Amino acid sequence: MSDVRTVLLDLDGVLMDHTSAAREAVRAWLGARLTPEVEAAWFAAQDLRLAQWRAGGLGWEEQRRARLRDVLPVLGERIGTDDELDAQWASGYGAAYRRSWHGFEDAGPAIRALHDAGVRTAVLTNGAEDQQTAKLRTIGLLDLVGPVLTAGALGLRKPDPRAFLVACERIGADPSAVLYVGDEHEVDVLGARGAGLGAVLLDRDGTAPPDETAVIRSLAELPALVR
Ligand SMILES: [Mg+2]
Repeated sequence: MSDVRTVLLDLDGVLMDHTSAAREAVRAWLGARLTPEVEAAWFAAQDLRLAQWRAGGLGWEEQRRARLRDVLPVLGERIGTDDELDAQWASGYGAAYRRSWHGFEDAGPAIRALHDAGVRTAVLTNGAEDQQTAKLRTIGLLDLVGPVLTAGALGLRKPDPRAFLVACERIGADPSAVLYVGDEHEVDVLGARGAGLGAVLLDRDGTAPPDETAVIRSLAELPALVR
């Protein structure tokens, strides 16, 4: 992959530890009300509603409300109006999630090493513009990582190949000279390849599909890969 001039990075699961943040947040939000049943319902709702948002079936705010509508009955709580759900999200899970944002320790050093090797970096992330920009600011990477392209601002969501193609266009890069790094095989790796980019799976937890050969376990492996 010596012709790579730009590394395009996913955010959640790659630069920021979304899984830990989400677990911390649901614990902080619900405290003693968090039973194993409620926790399972919460993460099932997260996965289902985000998949529906990726497929274009739900708006960003609506997927949040849908997650609360899924889980409130399990908690034995009534489901309020949209405005009430929005307020509940903002003061509850949403606030706790924000407080739980931490970057992965390998992110900053890997980005600096890429820059030292003459490789540009940028971010392409599914999610709302405000939230994803705030995450990068909180974890100290916003000024380092280069252009930030979000599904919210592009109106296109991975794995739609157009999301990758428009991102390349915005950063002035030929897709064939761009390597995408993501932690979700179908959404990130297959999506990027479908658009003609190179792609590598960041498999932090060792769950990569056995037939995938472009796999790294840490961002520390990235600079050697593009050199
Ligand atoms: Mg991700």
